[in-house]
Amino acid sequence: MRIDVVTIFPDYLAPLELSLAGKARDKGLLDIRVHDLRQWTQDRHHTVDDTPYGGGAGMVMKPEPWGAAFDELAIEDATVVVTTPSGEPFTQSLARELSTRGRIVFACGRYEGIDQRVLDHARTRTEVREVSIGDYVLNGGEVAALAITEAVVRLLPGFMGNAESLVEESHALSDSGASLLEYPVYTKPAAWRGLEVPEVLLGGNHAAIASWRHDQAVRRTTERRPDLLPAATLLDGVEVRLAE
Ligand code: SAM
Repeated sequence: MRIDVVTIFPDYLAPLELSLAGKARDKGLLDIRVHDLRQWTQDRHHTVDDTPYGGGAGMVMKPEPWGAAFDELAIEDATVVVTTPSGEPFTQSLARELSTRGRIVFACGRYEGIDQRVLDHARTRTEVREVSIGDYVLNGGEVAALAITEAVVRLLPGFMGNAESLVEESHALSDSGASLLEYPVYTKPAAWRGLEVPEVLLGGNHAAIASWRHDQAVRRTTERRPDLLPAATLLDGVEVRLAE
């Protein structure tokens, strides 16, 4: 996979150089490059923003530098991911989808966002996804690009040493189509500060452990994220039906 990140703060993306991208690069899975949007400006001051048409607070990112950046980078069936709080929510399912792409170009917005025509124009040539990482507003899209990159790259075939860990974790799709939160996990020692590891995990009965974990996952999902539960779910071997 090739990933290009376009930003006015390239240093913000320094964490990409740490273990994740390095590991993926060493394995030949990832080619990742960070670009300063200002290299596509034409004026002496490298201006990337201007006042909004129609008035209002803040500044808007100018179309010309973004257009030139996309002309150069959004090629060969690239998917352009524009980070924005008004985008579709980023989910594990979208991470899975993006992990199948050969080339992703991240556009990190700043100020009040990017002139809409940049997106409209890019859409005539390639896939454009406007993506939000949550219902809150950040100052810029860099943190969102980092989060999306990390979630996507760890799904690339061959990235995880043990692919099984992807099957068990939160938001992984089960055969039934459910996506439960992960059950609680424990390691040694068996007793710590007066707190014991649940008995069933010490016994080596794999069927009992699987059943306990399923029930814990359902309980946790019911408490914290009932919206993730399918209409019919097994708890303690009994089908629980949730209110529609
Ligand atoms: N005026 C915009 C709005 O109300 O939708 C918010 C702009 S925000 C201050 C600046 C940039 O931060 C956005 O263009 C986007 O790239 C990024 N950003 C902020 N919150 C985000 C979120 N929840 N998900 C993804 N990107 C976000």
